[in-house]
Amino acid sequence: MNPTSRRSDSLILRNVRLPGGDGALTSGPVLHDVHLVDGRVASLAPAGPGARRGGAAGADSLDADGRFLIPGLWDHHVHFTQWVIARRRLDLAATTSAAEVLQLVRGALSSDPALAVEGSEQAGSGVVGYGFRDGLWPDLPSLSSLDEATGSVPVGLISGDLHCMWLNTALQTRLGVSTDASGLLREADSFAVMDQLQDPAALTPEIYRQTAQAAAKRGVVGIVEFENADNISQWPLRTAAGVDSLRVEVSVWPDRLQSALLAGISTGDALDERGLVTMGPLKVISDGSLNTRTAWCWDPYPEVDRLHPHSCGMQTVPMDELQDVMRQARDGGIAAAIHAIGDRANSAVLDAFEALAMPGVIEHAQLLRWEDIPRFARLGLTASVQPEHAMDDRDVADAYWAGRTDRAFPLDALTRAGVPLRLGSDAPVAPLDPWVAIAAAVSRSRDGRDAWHPEQRLDPATALAAATRGGTAKGSHQVSEGDAADLVLVETDPLADPQAVGLREMGVSATLLGGRLTYDGIS
Ligand SMILES: [Zn+2]
Repeated sequence: MNPTSRRSDSLILRNVRLPGGDGALTSGPVLHDVHLVDGRVASLAPAGPGARRGGAAGADSLDADGRFLIPGLWDHHVHFTQWVIARRRLDLAATTSAAEVLQLVRGALSSDPALAVEGSEQAGSGVVGYGFRDGLWPDLPSLSSLDEATGSVPVGLISGDLHCMWLNTALQTRLGVSTDASGLLREADSFAVMDQLQDPAALTPEIYRQTAQAAAKRGVVGIVEFENADNISQWPLRTAAGVDSLRVEVSVWPDRLQSALLAGISTGDALDERGLVTMGPLKVISDGSLNTRTAWCWDPYPEVDRLHPHSCGMQTVPMDELQDVMRQARDGGIAAAIHAIGDRANSAVLDAFEALAMPGVIEHAQLLRWEDIPRFARLGLTASVQPEHAMDDRDVADAYWAGRTDRAFPLDALTRAGVPLRLGSDAPVAPLDPWVAIAAAVSRSRDGRDAWHPEQRLDPATALAAATRGGTAKGSHQVSEGDAADLVLVETDPLADPQAVGLREMGVSATLLGGRLTYDGIS
């Protein structure tokens, strides 16, 4: 059926099972009926002839036929526009060397000459590729080799972690930038170029709508938006234009903080008429990334010249500036979410939160000193983590954080210390699919490899809770009466899968947002 056709204020989900129940595992299915009224779970009771039917007269119903009911899922770290764009770009994710990247680029240019004029989001501008990871390449990227492969067609290639770009002379000339002989730009220089490669006119509401629906199809009801853009103005326009499959909590970056403060907008404020967009935190990036070897660490990267000023990675904002901007946000009622990947960056950001007596979120928290974990908990901070990055980067981490990876992505240690966890993808770095993050957290494994630091695995209930709005702080991996009717029906019991056999490919049957079906694979 058309997912938008159920518009009534009440709906009954019949014959649902609840995950992890004894009944589901031992004595046969215990089926429940769930009444959704005005966007909330009004009742949840055993199904059957004697079941409550109060207030249900005339309500639509959907027979779940024994499927499992779980809370709606959130992706707590998304760059949505980057994800919209990445889905349309030359995919470099499978490459393992500069030579393989060049081969793909050559192939794209020769097999589809139109790509050079029409294939990218910026017609006539050339090719934009995305997703290479150069941390362990056996060869070096160079400007000359890229020029040789591409000729006069402007080509820009973006790394999977978004912290680096490889661009040819034609594109450099066009944009008025220049690189050294590597052809690479890193951090702020590359962010500036990425901004210029986006043609906003090509990004229509319909493309956003499709991308949001694809997320709903995986059980997503909400995202935290970390796009470096005017999220506060843009998202209400999108929901008004029909991009209505997701709740969106929008962040503001430092360059737009003043205008948010002047407008009197605080974290938690509703920003659109549909009630889907709310104000989130200030986002600040405090260091680089592991793949680009710019994550700021206490110990030097092993293969980097120790005389090099960035041998331990880099701090991308001075401490006093970071605290300044966080203080301004705090005083204006705006929360903070600070990107910190290296252990030294995490120490520094913990210092900043402590100095300001301000709660908030650390984004990534990939490498932590053991002594910083209890401090993390004591300060009441939340860790927003992306478990699939550990699967993408385990070999890079083994090389560049050698001897330290026991405290890389320390999800179990954080949980045990009492730090609330939230899962996310950092899409486009990993796919906008919470089941990928849940599976990575539960298994610490992918593609049949041995688990990487299995002692840091999460149990399925904790991982599932971390992928919901409540996060692990609330321990809310199950649906209760009174909850918002942001719900998902799935094919198998996610709590009965401690080996994560089926989590990554979990069958999602239906997704509801405030009682409205945003994806219906049942009817
Ligand atoms: Zn991010």
